[in-house]
Amino acid sequence: MKQLNNLHLGKKNPVRIQSMTNTDTADIDATVSQILELAEAGSELVRITVDSHESCLAVPQIIEQIRKTSNIPIVGDFHFNGHIFLVKYPEMAQALDKYRINPGNVAGGNSRKKIEKTDTNFETILSVAKKYNKPIRIGVNGGSLDASVLEDEMNLEENKGKTSDEIFVGAMVKSAISSARFAENFGIPKENIIVSVKHSSVPVMISAYRKLSQSCDYLLHLGLTEAGGGNAGIIRSSIALGTLLQEGIGDTIRVSITPQQGESRTKEVKICQEILQSLGFRNFSPRVVSCPGCGRTTGNDFAEMAEKILENLEMKRKKENWDKKYPKFSSLHIAVMGCVVNGLGEAKNADIGIFFPGKGEGKNAVIMIDGKQKNISANSSNEIEKIFFKEVEMFLKK
Ligand code: SF4
Repeated sequence: MKQLNNLHLGKKNPVRIQSMTNTDTADIDATVSQILELAEAGSELVRITVDSHESCLAVPQIIEQIRKTSNIPIVGDFHFNGHIFLVKYPEMAQALDKYRINPGNVAGGNSRKKIEKTDTNFETILSVAKKYNKPIRIGVNGGSLDASVLEDEMNLEENKGKTSDEIFVGAMVKSAISSARFAENFGIPKENIIVSVKHSSVPVMISAYRKLSQSCDYLLHLGLTEAGGGNAGIIRSSIALGTLLQEGIGDTIRVSITPQQGESRTKEVKICQEILQSLGFRNFSPRVVSCPGCGRTTGNDFAEMAEKILENLEMKRKKENWDKKYPKFSSLHIAVMGCVVNGLGEAKNADIGIFFPGKGEGKNAVIMIDGKQKNISANSSNEIEKIFFKEVEMFLKK
């Protein structure tokens, strides 16, 4: 998929961030609003559920509204009835930028008896994709793997002695590749096919993508499915995606965390950004490194300052467009450290850094800019923070 609207995908392009709405697609206003919110947060593709006649009717209107302000590609997520909807609602089929299909449930179930029907339904979806020249994602999911593929894999002589996870990985990869090749033979251009093999277990998911990337050269979408919520969901997703990305595997990513009460859907986008930025792949926002503090500090001033600096920068980004105004903004590297032990080195490595004297922090600090040291004394930590933020602003303006 070399280009999706204005979005370029593939090995030489940056790893792209995808997200998915959790509004009822039939609710046009709510879905438009969430897509725009996700786009504003940095999502580069947004997937929406298409699971009812009402949602099919809503899709063209949603996309028409989105196109007034955004060119973000909108992906339709189909399970069980995509072959019916895509034919019955041509306006919806044309309006979407990409279709996501799960080979495990194209026929509406996992039974071996439905295999022939699966192929027929799959062909119907591919015919529509071909007719409108739409990219597709073949999205195999551990929770809905075609049972017949798994059964075949278990019966293979060469798989005797393998663990159940190894057999499962083999089955997922086979299902994904055979569906992608089927699509290619059907006439979908290779560059219009993207493949995923999501699973909820971190080791299984990593093994599946490694095997997939060794077995084909389709574009790959990475995701740990059903990652859970809270810290566990973030950590599991970060390990899974980070490991693969570091190995050069993956063209688009999505973090599928369960939102906690009141949590914005945009959190999944922010986590993707953090993962890509942590690996040094892309810069989205200033990086503030700070130490955890230890017995050498008597207060929490350095930690509070690190937090306030981040808040201030985010506020300046939102209200004064600092990200557009200052080219150095998104790659800015700041260090806020509790004492000289690691403070001097970290501050030197940063664009601009500050470290406190440890015990007695809050009154004195050292700022490092361009390798030069500047000692500051003030009446309070608040004053030090103001002085430091001014230095940050001056650095950005230079
Ligand atoms: S930089 Fe200083 S205060 Fe911070 S953790 Fe290291 S030794 Fe402790």
